[in-house]
Amino acid sequence: MNGFSSEEGFGVVDMSGQRSRAALVERRREKVEVEVVSIVVGRGEEHVRGTTGSVTLILYKDVKLLIDCGDPWNGPEILANLQKRGVSAEEVTHVAITHGHIDHIGNLHLFPNATFIMSRDRGQRLPNGVPEYNEADQDEDRPLFTIVPELIWMSAFEEIPGAYFLFTTAHSAEDLMFYVNTKDGVLIVAGDLFENEDLGGDVPMPVNPANYNVLREAVLDRADFIVPGHGRIFFK
Ligand SMILES: [Zn+2]
Repeated sequence: MNGFSSEEGFGVVDMSGQRSRAALVERRREKVEVEVVSIVVGRGEEHVRGTTGSVTLILYKDVKLLIDCGDPWNGPEILANLQKRGVSAEEVTHVAITHGHIDHIGNLHLFPNATFIMSRDRGQRLPNGVPEYNEADQDEDRPLFTIVPELIWMSAFEEIPGAYFLFTTAHSAEDLMFYVNTKDGVLIVAGDLFENEDLGGDVPMPVNPANYNVLREAVLDRADFIVPGHGRIFFK
């Protein structure tokens, strides 16, 4: 495994193999024609229907990647909206979870054929707010998530050219974001790193406030459009 900083400022660790730095950067430049479908526009506490996380479908060839899967009460809403796009629950090939909170993982059981992609969000933390990690608990080929604000760990999503999962610690102990360089620009599905498009509003309960602000800046800097955890997709 190689660890290095990329020219674009994300700390880059290719967790999936032995790619060279040049190959990684080149891969990230690759633009790909994906379809991005907002299955559920995430809602906040003030909403009459209550809180639920954004659910996003990424379509590319045979890949049907769902990012987050709502709360335990909105399964029918998710299934109905998938159906409107002509996708059944059985056809979803991958489900990626931004973090393990109940408003984002409530319908994991609905996708029997999917491969699940999720970081570990154990919710443990030290009194100073820094998640507690046990070195012995880490896989050999997986980096220890030291709390270095400028770092985002990247892992290529091999099914879609130029697509990555970004792992970090901000809203939860281990957050996942999805990055893809579309024909229209860079999309980052950012989970609760952003509550919604109101950037001046309250930030949603960071586990690591220092990381949180740095990462928000980094994502705003690089993304052309962002899917926040509890609101509609917004453009910069
Ligand atoms: Zn949430």
